[in-house]
Amino acid sequence: MEHPENSSEYAGLQVNSGVEQPSIVNPYLKHGRFRRRELSVGEMVEGILKGDVTILSQAVTLIESVNPDHQARAQEVINKCLPYSGNSIRIGISGVPGAGKSTSIDEFGMHVLKVKGGKLAVLAIDPSSERTKGSILGDKTRMEKLAQHPSSFIRPSPSAGSLGGVARKTRETIILCEAAGFDKIFVETVGVGQSETACHSMVDFFLLIQVAGTGDELQGIKRGIMEISDGIVINKCDGDNVDRCQMAATNFRNALHFFPMPDSGWSPRVLCYSGFYGTGVKEIFDMIYEYVDFVKANGYFDYRRNEQSKYWMYESINEHLRLNFYNNPQIKAQLSAAEQTVLAGQKTSFVAAQDLLDAYFAQLRK
Ligand code: GDP
Repeated sequence: MEHPENSSEYAGLQVNSGVEQPSIVNPYLKHGRFRRRELSVGEMVEGILKGDVTILSQAVTLIESVNPDHQARAQEVINKCLPYSGNSIRIGISGVPGAGKSTSIDEFGMHVLKVKGGKLAVLAIDPSSERTKGSILGDKTRMEKLAQHPSSFIRPSPSAGSLGGVARKTRETIILCEAAGFDKIFVETVGVGQSETACHSMVDFFLLIQVAGTGDELQGIKRGIMEISDGIVINKCDGDNVDRCQMAATNFRNALHFFPMPDSGWSPRVLCYSGFYGTGVKEIFDMIYEYVDFVKANGYFDYRRNEQSKYWMYESINEHLRLNFYNNPQIKAQLSAAEQTVLAGQKTSFVAAQDLLDAYFAQLRK
């Protein structure tokens, strides 16, 4: 429509009618012109072996996908990468939220890359569905220096599924990272619950980060976690916290005396450091490399990796059977009724479980 101010009354003032607004949808996207071509398994493996991080990321996404087709392709890629994997040092890093894991990993990573060179991948196992107190394990924004380092690859925890499922994906990702030439792998996990056991089952050295509290911190930490730790490090040993950290370290050392000698023959050590100021980090890595030399010499390094491979074979079987059972349409239909019979006291939990399993196996035999 002609603009009213274009009437002769306002001579000298010309208002143009404006231009049509472009669509907010990018037309090229609509035509799929920029859609990324799906790489074949062979191309993926070739890219990974060349150390192409973009292709490595795509392959990890396949591992994390729940789509059965993606899963099948992921397994092919993993199988082809397997012969090129294993040549790394895998370090598990655990600690409660706020212990300083991300601050420390940033510092640890920069240190180890500077001193030892090579390439570092940081992965994570975080089974909690609502993420750990708001922090996403393995999040790049929490490891600012490392995220910008050209030799680092940081990948947050796979999110979907059970702890077993999440951990298996991280374990598979380790294989791809190693095939891509990453010779140092950090696996970050949160030190509450079962996830540190899963983490322990895929690393060569398990490092537990602690903070000094009010002096009774030993009561709060589970015996099981201390037992699987190859090293305990007390963070935030800076400012007026130094004395408290050293006292905590002494407490931990005393407590460790009561544990039996681990199979590795290595007595776990306790060190203090500050992830924030980077003090004491060198000593931690000297310890880790000393451990690696020690267990490579006494054969425990290979023994532990073999045990882990066996463990993961059984874990995969368990996970597969579990999913197959729960995804069975007949079981799905009967599950909530079975729950009700247990709640109503009509059947014991064991009988209800047995009935469901009988129904499942009977169906398999058909
Ligand atoms: P995460 O949840 O275990 O990953 O812990 P963060 O790395 O996010 O650290 C939690 C808080 O502790 C942050 O406010 C850090 O700045 C602080 N922090 C971490 N390391 C140190 C340290 O060595 N000294 C001090 N004083 N504070 C630290």
